[in-house]
Amino acid sequence: MNGKDPSGETAPGRTCEQCGQWVPEDEVLYELRVVIRAEPHAKVEETGPGGLQEEWEALVDKMKDMSDEEVSEAADQVYEEYGFVLCAVCRKELHHRLKRRILLP
Ligand SMILES: [Zn+2]
Repeated sequence: MNGKDPSGETAPGRTCEQCGQWVPEDEVLYELRVVIRAEPHAKVEETGPGGLQEEWEALVDKMKDMSDEEVSEAADQVYEEYGFVLCAVCRKELHHRLKRRILLP
């Protein structure tokens, strides 16, 4: 996931990832970071001595039966992070959506 994206034909990093617009050096580029994470569970505090270890072992056991894809999906359900490069126009559009607290179409 941390590998470099080889798709950039023009100099990488100055292309808006939403509209594909090239942003010249003298114009402002915006970086968007998105983090989706599960709310922390109080569950961990409740586990008595050895409880956490047992829970961990159960989790590892469960993961043995999962495909790589399933493991990846399970990890994404706990924590996902993305970075986007945006032009001024898309930044403004996003700004309006966020102000209205609308994320999904
Ligand atoms: Zn854009």
